[in-house]
Amino acid sequence: MSVTGKTAVITGSNSGIGLGIARELARAGVNVVLNSFTDREEDHALAAGIAEEFGVEARYIQADMSKGEECRALIEKAGTCDILVNNAGIQHVAPIDEFPEDKWNAIIAINLSSAFHTTAAALPKMRAAGWGRVVNIASAHGLTASPYKSAYVAAKHGIVGMTKTVALETAEEPITCNAICPGYVLTPLVEAQIPDTMEKYNMGREEVIKKVMLERQPSREFATVEQLGGTVNFLCSDAAQQITGTTISVDGGWTAL
Ligand code: NAD
Repeated sequence: MSVTGKTAVITGSNSGIGLGIARELARAGVNVVLNSFTDREEDHALAAGIAEEFGVEARYIQADMSKGEECRALIEKAGTCDILVNNAGIQHVAPIDEFPEDKWNAIIAINLSSAFHTTAAALPKMRAAGWGRVVNIASAHGLTASPYKSAYVAAKHGIVGMTKTVALETAEEPITCNAICPGYVLTPLVEAQIPDTMEKYNMGREEVIKKVMLERQPSREFATVEQLGGTVNFLCSDAAQQITGTTISVDGGWTAL
C-alpha cells in the first residue's frame, strides 16, 4: 500500500529531526501536520513551504507536548492520523542528586508521557482507517546510558518499553509500533555548538566533530535528519509490515560497542 495521501502527525517538528522527518514523509507524498509549543508566523510558514515544495497538504498545529490534554487535542485537530511520529524532546544534564525536579518532570512529560497521550488518541483513528504506523524517536540513550542524563535516559528507556507494549496490543491489526534510536544527529542545535567547541579545544571543525563530539559514535559521522526521515519512510512501507515492537538504531555503531 502506498503512503501517498496518508496523513502524518510529527510532534516537535518545527526544527531538527522532526522537521527532517516531516520533509521526507512529504517527499514520499504524505500530508503532514507539524507541531511545537510556539505559534509564530515562521512555524506556519514552514508548513506552507513544505506544501509548496512537495505538493502535499501541510499544516502547523500549536500544542504543548508537556500537557496531556494538548497532546490529545493535537491528534483531534489533525482529524486524520495514519502515521504518528512521537519526536518532541528536550534534554537537561546534571548529576542525579542535583537534578532539578522541574527539569525531571518536564523531560518525563515531553519525552515520554506525550507519546502515551498521542498514541492513545491516535490508535482509534488508525483502527477506523484500517492501517497505522506509530514511530517513536527514542535515542541510543533508550538502549544504553550516560552519566548526568538520568531523566533523559529514563524517558528514552521508557519509550522503548512503551513501544513494545503498543506493538503487542496492536499485533493482530494492520498497525505497527517501533522506535528509532539515533546516535548523534547533525541538527541546527548540534551545528551551533561546533564553533564554541573548536575554540575551547583549539581544534579545527573536523577534529572537534570526530574526536570530541563523536567520541562514542564509532563511524565518527553524524547521522542526518534525512537518514532518519528515510528510516521512518521505511517503517511506513509494506516491507516493514511485520516489523513491530522493535528498535532500529541509527547510531554509527554506538550501541554495538
Ligand atoms: P530539536 O531541539 O531541534 O527539536 C526538538 C523539537 O521538539 C523542536 O521542534 C521543539 O520545538 C520541540 N519541543 C520541545 N518542547 C516541546 C513541547 N513542550 N511541546 C511541543 N514541542 C516541543 O532537537 P532534535 O535533536 O531534533 O530532537 C528531536 C528528538 O530526537 C528528541 O526526542 C531527541 O531526544 C531525539 N534525539 C536527538 C538526537 C540528536 O543528536 N540530535 C539524538 C538522539 C535522539
